[in-house]
Amino acid sequence: MKSLWNDEDAARYLAEGGELGLRVYTSRLLGMNPDLVLHGGGNTSLKGVSDTVFGESVETLFVKGSGWDLRTIEAAGFPPVDLNYLRRLGTLDSLSDTQMMRELRLALLDPQAPTPSVEAILHALIPHRYVDHTHTDAVVTLSNSQGGAERLAELFGDEVLILPYTMPGFVLAKQVAQHAADADWSSLRGIILLNHGLFTFAEDAKASYNAMIDLVTRAEECIAGELTDSGAETVAEVDAFDRLAFAELRREAGNVFGSPVLASLDTGEAARRFSTHEDAKRLIASGPLTPDHTIHTKPFGAVFPPDPVAGLHGFCADYASYFSEHALSEHRCLDLMPRFGVWSERGIVRLAPSVKRLRIVEDIVAHTIPAILTGESLGGWRPLPRAALFDVEYWELEQAKLKSAATASAPTHELEGKVALVTGASSGIGCAAVMRLASAGAAVCALDIAACVESQFASLPNVLGIRCDVTDSEQVESAIDSCVCRFGGVDIVVSNAGFFPPTQSLAELEESEWERSVTLNLTAHTRLLKRCIPLLKLGFDPAVVFIGSKNVSAPGPGAAAYSAAKAALMQVARIAALELGEHGIRVNTLHPDAVYDTALWTDELLQARANAYRMSVEDYKRKNILRTEVSSVDVAEAVFLLAGTRLGKTTGAQIPVDGGNDRVI
Ligand SMILES: [Zn+2]
Repeated sequence: MKSLWNDEDAARYLAEGGELGLRVYTSRLLGMNPDLVLHGGGNTSLKGVSDTVFGESVETLFVKGSGWDLRTIEAAGFPPVDLNYLRRLGTLDSLSDTQMMRELRLALLDPQAPTPSVEAILHALIPHRYVDHTHTDAVVTLSNSQGGAERLAELFGDEVLILPYTMPGFVLAKQVAQHAADADWSSLRGIILLNHGLFTFAEDAKASYNAMIDLVTRAEECIAGELTDSGAETVAEVDAFDRLAFAELRREAGNVFGSPVLASLDTGEAARRFSTHEDAKRLIASGPLTPDHTIHTKPFGAVFPPDPVAGLHGFCADYASYFSEHALSEHRCLDLMPRFGVWSERGIVRLAPSVKRLRIVEDIVAHTIPAILTGESLGGWRPLPRAALFDVEYWELEQAKLKSAATASAPTHELEGKVALVTGASSGIGCAAVMRLASAGAAVCALDIAACVESQFASLPNVLGIRCDVTDSEQVESAIDSCVCRFGGVDIVVSNAGFFPPTQSLAELEESEWERSVTLNLTAHTRLLKRCIPLLKLGFDPAVVFIGSKNVSAPGPGAAAYSAAKAALMQVARIAALELGEHGIRVNTLHPDAVYDTALWTDELLQARANAYRMSVEDYKRKNILRTEVSSVDVAEAVFLLAGTRLGKTTGAQIPVDGGNDRVI
């Protein structure tokens, strides 16, 4: 493992924030390495002093606050806690979770600071000033393998204290305290908590960080040494993607969960190796890398046999019996939906109710699957037993983390868990529709013929840009496959891609322009709808929105190719509403007009049209009954209303978004 320490950066953090600045710096270095920690895992601390209003100094532990992620932590993420108070807590014989959390808040030296990590007492009991804790893949993988404890003891000798697994919290702190009494802290570089993670510590930030990198590197080298011939192994090919079977699995998973969910399929190398592994069924049901992951992924995965829906229900039954076997009267069973599973000969499936949660599951599973395969190669994957995993999964302090994360995310995500497909997505109305649906929580596949679509939404985690010429059947097939593979299905189609041919009277109409218009403005929409119908039938509150045109009811001279194609598209939309209603699929059409912030309207063209009417550009834009300017965003708002359930009882409608046009009215 490479050290990310950089003297210049460290000096800058030190100059700006003192020792706490350095604490922020190395915490981020740990946090940005997914082989060390993932999504809020791990914690760090610094021992120092803080001054009271009386001018006295108090020995202080600055420890990671709950709700902060090491990758992005700031000084405010390290609540100051009375160090001696924590040390005294460590001398108690017992402390319940509720008492401990109350005492941690009582020990705060700043009443507004976040609640200290549940591991604060443990950090206080380690005498060194800097303490770093991660869930390193390499050390935990060794620990979760047959003979792991012995291997680690041989590897690290007296440099590292190895402790058997104990539930995190006060009991773990007590366990460390007992060993701390006899430990020679001057020679000790780290503590391994079996099946959980690694602590390193030192008097300065760099030494503690370097100890982490050094110990992890040695664990990685140990694994690599044992797996010398793994590189020669060929990875089996998997079966072709079956998008309808996958969409059906997602649909059923949403029914189990009680609201729309997303699904993605990983067919990468490790996923393929796992899905073709002879023992895949046993291994997926075994256990996670570190128990901290269970709140995101559940403690074990599902087995999706050739019939994935049957596999889903099999998991539900397994999870229900796991719950009843371990639950006490105060526990309430969480939902039964698996968060990941193996689809034999196909890959690894991931499931979650939102894009944010899906990404977390994907990241964790991307580390779990290779770890299990490595553990097997090391003699056998030996994760914690289910009883211990249950204790962590149903630990109120772990569930509280999930709840606070859920309430911290945006208040109303109306389309969360739903998947939208938008064509002509790179500019104008299509782009505005992508942004609007994404802001409402939908996962969006944004299709456009322009290559820039692949990168222009990169900052939005819930948008997948796909380059696609919608007049090309093969490209459409492949785009739909990508969409279903990434998010699990299609619930909303916004059929928008179109173009306005050059003005030509019927007398001078070129056949090629006529055909070009019919191909893109009519046939491509019809083809896309046809391909999506089987998926929409499996969708959640499925809806189709066609972008029509004012020209359907109020055509203009010179626009025969455009107006005729759009009018025919209108008929397709009406027939679709008639045919698809029995499946609960709503089909509606918007007729925008005079939307000037699209790629179609250049400044020159606007000026030319305004001149033709002897108007200013501003007046020309407002040349409608309401004397208002219509923008792509206004049309996107109407798309959002028709795509969601707010207009859930409307189908076959044609709605103008044009500021009012006397020829249409
Ligand atoms: Zn931990």
